Amino acid sequence: MKITDISVRVFTHSSREVKDSDGHTHPGDPHPVRQALLTITTDDASQGHCLAPTEVVRPFLIDRFVKVVLMGQDPFDREKLWQGLAHWQRGSGAMLTDRTLAIVDLALWDLAGRKLGVPVYKLIGAYRDKVPAYGSTMCGDELPGGLATPEDYHNYAKWLIERGYKAIKLHTWMKPVSWAPDPKMDVKACAAVRAAVGPDIPIMLDAYHGYSRSEALWLGQQLQKLEFAWYEEPMNEASISSYAWLAANLDIPVIGPETADGKHHTRAEWIKAGACDITRTGVHDVGGITPSLKIIHLAESFGMDCEIHGNGVGNLTLCAVQKNGRWYERGLLHPFINYDDVPEYLNARGDAMDADGFVHLSQAPGLGDDINFDYVNSHLV
Ligand code: MG
Repeated sequence: MKITDISVRVFTHSSREVKDSDGHTHPGDPHPVRQALLTITTDDASQGHCLAPTEVVRPFLIDRFVKVVLMGQDPFDREKLWQGLAHWQRGSGAMLTDRTLAIVDLALWDLAGRKLGVPVYKLIGAYRDKVPAYGSTMCGDELPGGLATPEDYHNYAKWLIERGYKAIKLHTWMKPVSWAPDPKMDVKACAAVRAAVGPDIPIMLDAYHGYSRSEALWLGQQLQKLEFAWYEEPMNEASISSYAWLAANLDIPVIGPETADGKHHTRAEWIKAGACDITRTGVHDVGGITPSLKIIHLAESFGMDCEIHGNGVGNLTLCAVQKNGRWYERGLLHPFINYDDVPEYLNARGDAMDADGFVHLSQAPGLGDDINFDYVNSHLV
């Protein structure tokens, strides 16, 4: 079995999400956006697919790096192919990113699952068939009735619990919100959510990612009083020493890294340095399922939980194959957007959630995205 083609379809669909000047997602008016679908095909006409941002699978990257490593190879040699792409990263002059590695790796896993007729989480080795979700909010904003005030967070938290979520994670206000960031306002929002949901619902905070050590320590001390479940990325993750210092000075679990470069190598350094109490991986952060499994198992070997960052079927698959992690991150959520709406390019959401807050793994062969190929093919750019 050999890989004979790697293709990318770019298509348009309607979105209600817009990005601010710092890259954070907020609700906006419906507008057309571009999306890509990477497809890997073999000599027996097997295929694997993965949806991607267009820039991550642009033609230069596919022709110069991905095809060079994958064409003519056995798609079941995932470790060899992943190592081949990872090795190319240094010579690529930073052009070949972990984001591209992730899309290729996910498509290879999807191909394997489809070829063998099993869901990928069963192929890896399932631990569970459904995962409890936490509702992960968008960042704070200045939209009236949106996420502009602590009371907005209070009201939205009540709605999230009614919807079925058994835990909530706040992203609070960051630039370019005119007065942000402000640790005191973060605490007000966190206190408002705690008051809304009572003492038994786990709540987490993903604060502004650029606080100083003293700001981060003070904010963490306030979260301890509110009995928050974890404290995420209050400082730049490049400074492992700062996180080791923070974790040593707080009782609340510090979680990370999420955005730091370096895949499983960086997670090992954080654990060794005592810089986190819970570690983190996400398929798009470290280059796919293949390296994420190393991180999950590394954490388990140290008796540590590894919570999965981000939504989508790749991350949901990771949640289903681990004992040492609790939640699926569902979102980002906002009062003005119905996350349960099915995007035009899918037949069904891959992370549909029941009334008890559980997301169930798809039993279809492959990674779990039910792609509407007719829609994709009729909206090509
Ligand atoms: Mg985060």
